[in-house]
Formats: sequence, C-alpha cells, structure tokens
Amino acid sequence: MTTFHRQALYIRPHHYETPHSYLDRLCDANAIHTPLVTAVVKKRRAETGHKHLLAHAIRDLAGVEPMHWVKAYTRAVNPIMDDANRMLGEVFRKPRDTRWVCTRCTGGQTAGTWEHHQFTICLRHGRWLAPGHGPEHQRQVPGEAVWLRAERAYRQVARSPFLTRPLVDEVWRIVRDQATVLGPPDLAARLAAAEKAQGFKEGVDDRLALYPETVRILAWLARAEVWDRLVGPHRNQERLRAGLRRGFDWMPGDKSVLEEALAEALIRSRRSRLTQLDEAIHAHIRKHGPTPRRIPAMRQVSTR
Ligand SMILES: [Zn+2]
Repeated sequence: MTTFHRQALYIRPHHYETPHSYLDRLCDANAIHTPLVTAVVKKRRAETGHKHLLAHAIRDLAGVEPMHWVKAYTRAVNPIMDDANRMLGEVFRKPRDTRWVCTRCTGGQTAGTWEHHQFTICLRHGRWLAPGHGPEHQRQVPGEAVWLRAERAYRQVARSPFLTRPLVDEVWRIVRDQATVLGPPDLAARLAAAEKAQGFKEGVDDRLALYPETVRILAWLARAEVWDRLVGPHRNQERLRAGLRRGFDWMPGDKSVLEEALAEALIRSRRSRLTQLDEAIHAHIRKHGPTPRRIPAMRQVSTR
C-alpha cells in the first residue's frame, strides 16, 4: 500500500479552510500532483470502507490532525450535532458551496472555506469577501470606519441562535429590495451611487453598499428580548409591528414596507424553528422513548 510521507514544506490551514482546499495548496507548495493523492485516497477508501481517509492523508503529509477539520467545520457552520457520522461525512466531503479566503491574506492564492456566515470583511485588509461569489469579486471596502465597525458588530451578532442562515439571507434580500428609490433615502442614495459606479456587480457591490444598515437590522433581530417579547408564541402581530417601528426609528424616510417584510420574515422564521423543534422532539422520543430528559431546547434548534 502506498504510504504518504511528511512533506518538507508545511503550510498553515486558513481560518475555516476545508481539507480539500488545504490539500490542494499543500500539494502545490510541495510540487505533488494532487490528483495522485486523491486517487490513492479513493482507492484506499474503496479497499477499507473507511470514509475519512482524506484526513489521514493530510495528517501523514503535513501533520495536521483530523480533529482540526472537525473543529473548524463545527465553528464555521455550527451544525446540529445529532448524528456524528453524518457530520463527519460533511467535514470531509468536497463542499457544494465555497467561500473564499481573503486573497490578500493568501498572497493571491485561492483558498476555499466552508460556506459560513461568521464574517464578511477581512478586517486586516479591509476586503469585502463577496459571499456567494468567486474570489475575483472581492473588493476594498469604502474608506469609512463605519464598514469596519459594522463588521465587528456583525461578528458578534452572527453567533446569535436567533439568526438562522435562512433568516440572515432573507434580511439581506429584504434590505436590498427596499433600498430602491422608494425606500429610506440614505439606503436608496447609496445603492444608486453603487449601481452607477464602474464595474458594478449585482450581489456584491449592492450588498457592500448596504452593509452597515443590514448589520444594524440583524443586530436588532439577534436580541433575545425581541424574540421573547415580540415574536414569542402568544404575541400579537400588531405588537411585533410596533416593536419593529420603534426598533428602526434611527432610519429616516418611509419604512413601512421594510417593517412589513421583516415582520413576515420573523414570523416565518419562528414557524420553521418550531417545526424543527417539533421534529427534533419526535426524533428524540423515537430514539430514547418518551422520557422528558434532554429534550432539545429551542435555542439549540437551528436551520443552518
Ligand atoms: Zn485579508
């Protein structure tokens, strides 16, 4: 059986980098033909039936322990930990969607991470990382400190159990939709300026332009008391709408459509979390019988 030897050149894995991306870069640095390594891994997998041989190959070649990838994956996507095998499968599978590490941090190399929602700007280089787009669409953020402050705030709120992936994506969409000529004047003016600029790319420059306000809205939605007092099971929708009006009084102009869209997004998000909680409880009962201990809590249920 072919064995892998420790390579002369060690490279550090980037933050949240996937094992596949790391293997590519490691092979590149050590002048190894990557398809050769992956072919051996595939062959061994077929012979032994072990799923995670990619992790072993990387350990042999570079000394990075398999647990490193598991921890990085967990931090990046915060998976529901009900099935360790399935999670390990995800860790070592080539991901469908990739985020790209800041190309200034990598000296121009492309390095892929799991699709995560933990940060959007590289604070060291002031680069907009263009989520959902290739590394060629990364941009310098405008010079103002507002964007960097927004990024720091975003990193705090991204950890909130209330900000599920679908809700974050929906808020992005809502803010973008509302920032038209009819929306709040600050947003509309900034979006219009971005759209006029040379090389405007939809989904990149528009999101970058509206980032400070988007984060401010997300920060409000991430607060536990919003969910406890306004979105909870017996709250009436009028109270939620009044709460949204108070929450966004910092934004000038007519925000009625924005508030309405956010109210609907919150109600939908709560409904889908409750459905998931229900499913999690039923799965738990199927597995462990109807004992009341260790029923998953609402906050642990996420639609990430
Ligand atoms: Zn960077």
